[in-house]
Amino acid sequence: MKISFELDELNSGRAENFFTLYDFENIVGDTTEKYYLGTKTIPRCCRFCNKKEPIVTFKKDAHVIPQFMGNKKLLSYFECDACNELFSQYESSFANYIGASRTISQIPGQGKHKVPKFRDKKTGFTIELGEKSLKMGFVEGHDEVSFDEKNNKLFIKTVRPSYVPLHIAKVILKIGICLLKEEDLEDYKSTISFIFADKYGNGIEGNELLKVKGYFLPGPPKYPKPFVQLYTKKKTVDELIPSKHVVVYYGNYVFQMCLPFCKTDNHLNGQQISFPLFPLLVDNSYFDTYGPYQKFNLDTTSNEKKVNEPHSITFSYKKLIKPELLEDNKAD
Ligand SMILES: [Zn+2]
Repeated sequence: MKISFELDELNSGRAENFFTLYDFENIVGDTTEKYYLGTKTIPRCCRFCNKKEPIVTFKKDAHVIPQFMGNKKLLSYFECDACNELFSQYESSFANYIGASRTISQIPGQGKHKVPKFRDKKTGFTIELGEKSLKMGFVEGHDEVSFDEKNNKLFIKTVRPSYVPLHIAKVILKIGICLLKEEDLEDYKSTISFIFADKYGNGIEGNELLKVKGYFLPGPPKYPKPFVQLYTKKKTVDELIPSKHVVVYYGNYVFQMCLPFCKTDNHLNGQQISFPLFPLLVDNSYFDTYGPYQKFNLDTTSNEKKVNEPHSITFSYKKLIKPELLEDNKAD
């Protein structure tokens, strides 16, 4: 099967560069039936903390991609309940970073509440999924919501619920570790230790290898079912680049990270490393319909909790119903 895309200049350049250096290694995504990565060894052993039954338990479903991203059935045999618990704290940070966009993209998360309701604590602005449409509540006179009715666009100014930037990176790394072959795990011991670490000897702030790069696509969620890919450096390549990259597709987002601290990448220490960026593999025609994509380079290297970070969201709608205007019309 051959898929061809018409890419813009930036992404065709990135595609040419990236696929000259890297081979595709693995892809997994949410499935209709439960699907487990790894093997059900006896006793079970955790890929992350390396502990075995009965020291640790494996009672809970361990989701490879977080549930809030819409993953229901892609699970693993190699994540113990204690690690699962820790990773779910990181995932809460990630979900908070996405903030109100989670409701707008309408991707069901976990539990009864499916698509979560969002509430801005300071302004009282709310957004939730009604039976057929998104419902918003805000106080007249505040400027958190504005409309461009000619172009069917809505602008929201709100804040993200508090989150720790480093947790976003750790969630992506954890997903990447899940995709590794058993025999490659040994090389990524330091990556796994980093996921658990709370203190960082040499300082990590601003470290390029720990930043999350990617794209935001406007319009309805391009990836309503999340999936993830792993890429490996070609054997013939000797450029100073990381060995593996993980790419996560979720809702309106594509996230890319390299897997840092790999043993076979030790020769990169202290060197000027080039960081090949993954292309956005979406045909140009998509953006004619929904507007331009945004690319981002998130500095996810801080372990300090971010509180009240401003979050501006623009989205398009088909039809706008404003109850207060209907009331006004009646009065006339
Ligand atoms: Zn564990």
